[in-house]
Parts: sequence; C-alpha cells; structure tokens
Amino acid sequence: MLSNFTYVRPKSLEEVFKHLSSEGSKVHAGGTDLLGCLRDHVFEASKVVSLSNVKSLHGIKKTSQGGMRLGALTTLLEVAGDPEVKKHYTSLAQAASEVASPQLRNQGTLGGNICQKPRCWYYRGEFPCLRKGGEECFAVAGENAFHCIFGGESCYIVHPSDTAPALAALAAQIHIRGPKGQRIVALENFHVPPGEDYTKETRLGPGEIVTEIELPPPLEGLRSSYRKVRARQSWDFALAGVALALVFKGDQVQKARVFLSGVAPVPWRSKEVEEVVTGKNLDEGTVRKAVEAAVQKAKPLEQNAYKIPLLRGLIEEQLLAIAGA
Ligand SMILES: Cc1cc2nc3c(=O)[nH]c(=O)nc-3n(C[C@H](O)[C@H](O)[C@H](O)COP(=O)(O)OP(=O)(O)OC[C@H]3O[C@@H](n4cnc5c(N)ncnc54)[C@H](O)[C@@H]3O)c2cc1C
Repeated sequence: MLSNFTYVRPKSLEEVFKHLSSEGSKVHAGGTDLLGCLRDHVFEASKVVSLSNVKSLHGIKKTSQGGMRLGALTTLLEVAGDPEVKKHYTSLAQAASEVASPQLRNQGTLGGNICQKPRCWYYRGEFPCLRKGGEECFAVAGENAFHCIFGGESCYIVHPSDTAPALAALAAQIHIRGPKGQRIVALENFHVPPGEDYTKETRLGPGEIVTEIELPPPLEGLRSSYRKVRARQSWDFALAGVALALVFKGDQVQKARVFLSGVAPVPWRSKEVEEVVTGKNLDEGTVRKAVEAAVQKAKPLEQNAYKIPLLRGLIEEQLLAIAGA
C-alpha cells in the first residue's frame, strides 16, 4: 500500500525547484517506475512533484548545429516514432521501442528512463541491502541470475535502462538544472558505479532534475544500432544488450563507441571492442577478435555465467549486421 503524500503539478521550473527543496519530495515524470518504488516502499515520499505541466520539458527539436534536443518529458513512444531520430540516431529509436510494453512507452519518459531505479529483487524487496543503507549485498550469495558480470563492487545490480546505453554510444549530453543553476554531464558519466558510491544511481544533486538530452550532429558515415536479449519475448528488461555507434568510411570503421546493457551497474563501455574494430573492416576475423575481447574481463557470479555466451552471440550478430547495413 502507498503511504500518504502531497501531490503537486507546478507550471514552471522555478516552482518545481521550490517544491523540491522540501525534504522528502520526489520527482514524478510518467510515474511508471516511481509509483512501483513507492508502493513497494523502496523509498518514501512526503511530496510528489509532477513535471508534466512544465511545457519547456516536452518535445523534440533540432539544434542550430544540426544535433537534436529531446525534452526530459518526451515519451518513449515519441522518441521511438520520431522520423529524424529514426533516421539519424537509429539506435536510440530502437532502444526506446524495446522498452517494456506500448502502454508503458506511452506513459514513460526519456528522462525517467535514464533516472529509473535498479530492478534487483533484493533492492526492490524487503531486504535491508547495501544500496538501501544495509550492510550486505544479498545477491553475492543469493539468487544472482540477473545480476552483473562487469563492474560489480560491493553491489551487483544491473543498470535497467535501454535508452541510456544507446544515448551513451551516441555521445549524448545530459542537461541538468537545479537550485544552483545549470550544468551539462556526458551521459557516459551520468551514472554512478557502485565502487564510487553504492547508494546513488545518478550524479543528480539535491533538488536537481534532468531537463534535456542533447544529441550531437550525426557524423558522416554514422551507423548505429541497439539490440537486447530478454528472458521472454514479451516486455522485459535486458539480460544482455549492445548499443553500437560506428562511423564508417567505405567498409572501414573509423570511429567506434560501444556500450553494453544488462551486464553492469552502469551502461558499460566496451573499450575492448572499440579498440579491436577501429581502423578495420568488419570481416569475420575482426568480429571474432572483438567478441573475445568483449568478454575477457567478465566476472560472473554463481548463476549468471550464461550471460557470457549470450553477449558473445549478440555482439557477433550486431557487428556483422551493421557491417552489411
Ligand atoms: C513492467 C515494467 C517493465 C519495464 N520494462 C523496461 C524495459 O524493458 N526497459 C527499460 O529501460 N525500462 C523498463 N521499465 C522501467 C520504466 O518504467 C521506464 O523505463 C520509464 O521510461 C520510466 O519513465 P517514467 O517517466 O515513467 O519515470 P518515473 O517513474 O516518473 O521516474 C523514474 C525515476 O526517475 C526520476 N525522474 C524522472 N524524471 C526525472 C527527471 N527529469 N529528472 C530527475 N529525475 C527524474 C523519478 O524521481 C524516479 O525516481 C519497465 C517498467 C515496468 C513497470
């Protein structure tokens, strides 16, 4: 059952920040994750501050430099269906269309997608785990089939967002505003690894919100893709996924940004794959080397070593597909 809270729908950012300054207030975008967290008492709120009436947070527009700005309140359905996003930032449109179900994509927002809380069943359940201020990560000796194989340190969650790895590969910038003003953080640095602070998921400070997500102008020769594997065909989170953003000249990869999903506590940059493919044609030999490099540093827990062959297959298929695209 939900605990009682006050609900407000301010019309301006100034009012938003005023409301967020009171202790125990939480931001509400589409609510598809927030309400589950409140219902399950992952955290409590005394005031819920809806962003939905702030017009400046909605919509997609082109920047004067040829990139795009997506308001934090843009729904995943809008992102997935936007013709410019589909054409120039294909991986983002694919990632948004892979999130959950049509109903959730209609309600869920891009800002909420990158700020959502992890899905670890110990964190979401009635367990006093490390991330909730307890003393241990129950996944280490417990049910860890869906936990991470990279970047686990003290806490072994996987980052749940599909759009974040795609945005990271596309070198997106996150516009943040709060009571102290504005700042911009690269998406690849926006999420906090547990080795740095296992009680935080993002670098948002008190009272700060994401206002926009900015995509740089697409480079000539850019091809991008996102694909995830899930336990069942219907809506589900990624067991493993890969976001590619490769710049080709002819058949050769000139630049590569590769981020993995479903396997690490943050969107996981695979510099190993990037190094193998840069300057090369994506023939079978290069792809085989890239696949080996991708999983070399994986450290599976007792029940999730299956993610290694899953990831290998996924990376192989996606690299071969993008080479032939
Ligand atoms: C059944 C189910 C299946 C799902 N499957 C997937 C999936 O396959 N892939 C996936 O990626 N996600 C999935 N989700 C997670 C989630 O619902 C969506 O990712 C959605 O995009 C969250 O957006 P929202 O607008 O509803 O966020 P909200 O629920 O409103 O907010 C989520 C969190 O982010 C904070 N927040 C929201 N907006 C901002 C902002 N602008 N600035 C600062 N903080 C903010 C909120 O305070 C809250 O903590 C699933 C959820 C459910 C319930």
